[in-house]
Amino acid sequence: MLDMKWIREHKEQVQQAADGKGIALSVDELLEREREQKELLQQTEELRYKRNMLSGRIGELRKAGDIRQSDLLRDSVREINGTLGRLESQLERVQAETGKLQLLVPNIVSPDTPQGRSDADNVEIRRVGEQRAFSFPLKDHVELGELHGIIDIPGGVKIGGTRSYVLKGAGLLLHRAVQQLALDLLVQKGFTPLEVPLMVREQALVNTGFFPIGRDQTFAIQGEDKWLVGTSEVPLISYCADQIIDADQPVRLAGVSTCFRSEVGSAGRDVRGLYRVHQFSKVEQVVICEPDAALSDQLLEEITGHAEHLLQQLELPYRVVAVCIGDMSQKTYKQYDIETWMPGRGAYGETHSSSNLHDFQARRSNIRCRGKDGKLAYCHTLNNTAVASPRILIPLLENHQQEDGSIRIPEALRPYMGGLQLLSV
Ligand code: AMP
Repeated sequence: MLDMKWIREHKEQVQQAADGKGIALSVDELLEREREQKELLQQTEELRYKRNMLSGRIGELRKAGDIRQSDLLRDSVREINGTLGRLESQLERVQAETGKLQLLVPNIVSPDTPQGRSDADNVEIRRVGEQRAFSFPLKDHVELGELHGIIDIPGGVKIGGTRSYVLKGAGLLLHRAVQQLALDLLVQKGFTPLEVPLMVREQALVNTGFFPIGRDQTFAIQGEDKWLVGTSEVPLISYCADQIIDADQPVRLAGVSTCFRSEVGSAGRDVRGLYRVHQFSKVEQVVICEPDAALSDQLLEEITGHAEHLLQQLELPYRVVAVCIGDMSQKTYKQYDIETWMPGRGAYGETHSSSNLHDFQARRSNIRCRGKDGKLAYCHTLNNTAVASPRILIPLLENHQQEDGSIRIPEALRPYMGGLQLLSV
């Protein structure tokens, strides 16, 4: 959410952001509704004031025995009440329309955000690690998973339908090992780990900027005001909602959660294997800091660095891309994606998403801090994946496969795998 006064003063910039992000919003219409709302509010307040004055006068006249005059005033009050009723329902309607439009207003984007319409327009910033040249026919993660009996896609589909899977034996151990490695890294970096509700109220999704636009991406619990989160960013930010935080140090939170995504709109995309599934696990980094653009910019680099550090520990080649405006969500100000090399796809695939939201989300969630001037201000919020699994198992299995199909376990993961160095066939 942006401040209405700010929107009025920067309406071209906000409209450009809406157009760039593909959000159907007319900023002029929003401003017109808001103007109407203010006008109606003023009229209703004036009428209420007049009615109260007249009601007081009626009492005085009756006390003085001037019944004729008091009856005349009573007729005027009746007339005012009629007009007031009409204006109030008009105001209610305009307020609802303004509120609806307000929730569609996007965050503006940083000046260095690339222009573009989709992920094809994202701009590579750096590549790290060598893509391995395979001297034998490589297997993709589905073939490797079957060979080792650790990934069972048909078994998952039998239980949960499309985009489901079962991880078995070393498959599950690897899935948990990467998460524990990521969590340990974050704890070491000063993050507080949290276990949070994954069924949340609608308001939590509105406040964190996932609703109304991402509503169809989210699974609802039938018959209740409860939704399954697609990321622990929702409960982590909501945990701090309506609070005034201590701005001396950024708040660093780590969530470990299952994530649920309907993947509406992805029909036919990434249907093979573990890439795009309805249920996965994610260790998430969330940071809340004072609204200092230089600080939050630096924190974006920091949380991106954590993910890169993890990929280096997993000995995986990756690249960092600057995400273009057309591939950004409504709430994002600046975003990097990290894409890890997936030999089976012959391409880099997104494994991490690192975003600075400036004060957009904190405004909706009412998270503030006191500045050095003593005034309260909305904080900046940021988030990034630390690791998401099973998607990360794709590059992990594929990049570390050996000619005989065995899989080398990177050194950093071995302590979490009972010292195992090789997943032999
Ligand atoms: P996001 O929260 O959408 O930025 O996604 C963060 C990370 O979660 C992605 O980079 C992926 O690694 C993972 N992810 C997102 N959606 C899915 C999905 N449907 N299936 C598997 N992994 C996913």
